[in-house]
Amino acid sequence: MKMRKRINGIILFAGTIVVSSIFVTGYYRHNTAKREIVQAAVVEGNVKQDTNNSAKSNISLTEFINKELTLDKNAYDAGTIQDFLSKNIKINDGKKIVFLTFDDGPSTTVTPKVLEVLKKNDIRATFFIVGKELEKNSRAKQILLDTYKQGNSIGNHTYTHIYNNLYPGGKVDVDKFMAELDKNNDAIRKVLGQDFKSRIVRFPGGHMSWKGVDEADKRFNDIGYKYIDWNGIVGDAEGKPKSKEQLLNTYRQTFKNQQKLVLLMHDTYGKENTAEVLPDIIADLKNKGYEFKILE
Ligand SMILES: [Zn+2]
Repeated sequence: MKMRKRINGIILFAGTIVVSSIFVTGYYRHNTAKREIVQAAVVEGNVKQDTNNSAKSNISLTEFINKELTLDKNAYDAGTIQDFLSKNIKINDGKKIVFLTFDDGPSTTVTPKVLEVLKKNDIRATFFIVGKELEKNSRAKQILLDTYKQGNSIGNHTYTHIYNNLYPGGKVDVDKFMAELDKNNDAIRKVLGQDFKSRIVRFPGGHMSWKGVDEADKRFNDIGYKYIDWNGIVGDAEGKPKSKEQLLNTYRQTFKNQQKLVLLMHDTYGKENTAEVLPDIIADLKNKGYEFKILE
């Protein structure tokens, strides 16, 4: 009986070693393959159109956020700005910083004009992309590529932007919302490369506007997404197209010497005057001593 037990023990021990070594070898192989894929993606650059889904990067968004996020000199930590806007957590770096943000694009009519103004001023902005707009035509895709190559930051503004899908009854449908973010990510990656990742999200209509955000916040936390609302507008969101003067007036009304100003604008169809008025706004902010940064 004792002998039997010992033999059983030995068999179990030997078995464990065999299984472990198979597992370790497999894991090692898997990781090597993973590294090769990542290296290949780096060599090819971010801008190549991806036609091969099997070459998908294996770094998860969470890993990317925790380990790989190194902000360049034009970027500012989106998490700090999320907390500043949503929880009013003060930032005491004494710096006046503005984040120009453009939603609902890309459009073939307005986005190129915005890009031109940014380039002329040697500044960068943050663009919250709607996948449905991106996939309308190949020109829109090229414009996203231009936007990205110019050093601007790319964020997620859901795939459809349709309030009834995302917020039935004014309440966030978390599963649908997250699925739309994924679908939008896929659309963006088809253009910028499978290695592209962004952790910044803007809720259509703003995080501040909807019920049931707690569950979304939890999911965001798990993944590492940061949501960015705003504290300044030009008033180009809804209704009839506004004149340059109307846009400037609204900008001036909502400008309250915010130490960190997140300015909401739109670069979708019909927002030509936003691009027209942009040079004046930039000049005003430069005069006031603001630095221009992007959110990452
Ligand atoms: Zn929007």
